[in-house]
Amino acid sequence: MERYALFIDGDLREPSGGEWFTTENPYTGEPWAEIARGNAADVEQAVQAAQRAFTQGPWPELSASARGLLLHRLGDLIAEHAEELARIEVRDNGKLFSEMRAQLNYVPQWFRYYGGLADKLQGSVIPIDKKGYFNFTRDEPLGVVAIITPWNSPLMLLAWKLAPALAAGCTVVIKPSEFTSASTVALAKLVSEAGIPPGVVNVVTGFGNEVGSELVAHPLVRKVTFTGADSTGRRISEQAARDFKHVSLELGGKSPNIIFADANLDDAVNGAISGIFAATGQTCIAGSRLLVQDSIHDEIVERLLALAKTARMGDPMDPATQVGPITTPPQFEKVLSYIDIAKQEGATLVLGGGAAQRPECGKGWFVEPTVFTNVQNDMRIAQEEVFGPVLSIIRFKDEQEAVAIANDVRFGLGAGVWTQDMGRAFRMSERIQAGTVWINTYRAVSYMSPFGGYKDSGIGRENGIDAVNEYLQRKSVWINT
Ligand code: NAD
Repeated sequence: MERYALFIDGDLREPSGGEWFTTENPYTGEPWAEIARGNAADVEQAVQAAQRAFTQGPWPELSASARGLLLHRLGDLIAEHAEELARIEVRDNGKLFSEMRAQLNYVPQWFRYYGGLADKLQGSVIPIDKKGYFNFTRDEPLGVVAIITPWNSPLMLLAWKLAPALAAGCTVVIKPSEFTSASTVALAKLVSEAGIPPGVVNVVTGFGNEVGSELVAHPLVRKVTFTGADSTGRRISEQAARDFKHVSLELGGKSPNIIFADANLDDAVNGAISGIFAATGQTCIAGSRLLVQDSIHDEIVERLLALAKTARMGDPMDPATQVGPITTPPQFEKVLSYIDIAKQEGATLVLGGGAAQRPECGKGWFVEPTVFTNVQNDMRIAQEEVFGPVLSIIRFKDEQEAVAIANDVRFGLGAGVWTQDMGRAFRMSERIQAGTVWINTYRAVSYMSPFGGYKDSGIGRENGIDAVNEYLQRKSVWINT
């Protein structure tokens, strides 16, 4: 069986407690690799290495452009190894190889974009109102950053954090999800190959309540950047607040995808399908609430079911497969339990509704693409994040009601609007409380465009120029002339 060790101070290391745990392939249900079970002593070593790299040695001495070049080199290496990394993620996460390959071909752009930004970070001169003084600002790196990532898109979500953190001059300790740690360790090897000095990037694999919470509590960690469940985000936020640590949180969603009667219905139905079933619904931006205007409701449901019924499930490596397995057994159980909850709440099941019993699904953790109609927005199925291939269809009569339903949820991550009336598109984009609004499209993300949550979907922004500020602190310098 393959083994993935810790990566500390530029070296692969055995866990100090000598313990390993297995990671399973969601398609076969079988273990395929052993992962080092890090503990508090490993966190201590990794944080100390990151602190040394931040304060001594070559990293703080490097010019910003030299730092940028290292990021470019890392991006190039990821591009060279995209296929290999994609295969690891498919085995660990169950995502379709075709999708993973496309994603990993795009991930290098984060390193190139922030690599290019590194030497453009500059302070400013303040035209100060006190005679005899000169005042200017410097943007300085925060220090050691803890990066804590979830299982649903391990390398892409890591890139969103790692690239701007390094561009800012920080050093990092990464704690990947215990369900999908392998690709992060594989990436760490490329970090060394790129010439990034030892200690700048460290990886401690293991469990959230062992490695994750130790990292958040470590006094030398100055910033925690986290993507994951809102309940975990709340715990991290409370723990980090005790030491006044900086925190960025990318949490869950219950995103509305809204189809008006004047939309191009073919596009809208395709957008609704990919919005919920891509990555088997295991994306924070899943369009899990489909809001459909009354007059087209029945037609949309009919078209959507016709298309969803043709979805091919099976081996994620097979290019013909369209829906893969659920990544983890607990998530599999959670999705099934929400299907039961929706039935009990009185929603009408019109497609799927259980574990897939198809021969092509083998022993994998598959759930049928599932659709409920007659969903009321106050039902749990419409308010809570399922994180699976379960779509709730909700009717609305007019624009005002669509906005009210869209916003009547504690999350605010993404929203889709399908209409050919551009006035309405602008109005909706203003009135919807979400960090991203897509008009006549869904799921588009880029390293260039800010991403983050309103309300309970998080704090801070990733991607785009401003994301680097999440890793900087501003100093004001006064000179008595
Ligand atoms: P999770 O919160 O269970 O785990 C995320 C990470 O936190 C893992 O590495 C885990 O080990 C670690 N962790 C757990 N407990 C911890 C603790 N007490 N202290 C520190 N670290 C701890 O989330 P998950 O199940 O891996 O991921 C799914 C969730 O992620 C969904 O809710 C989804 O919406 C969210 N998500 C959000 C975004 C976004 O950008 N907003 C993107 C992807 C996923």
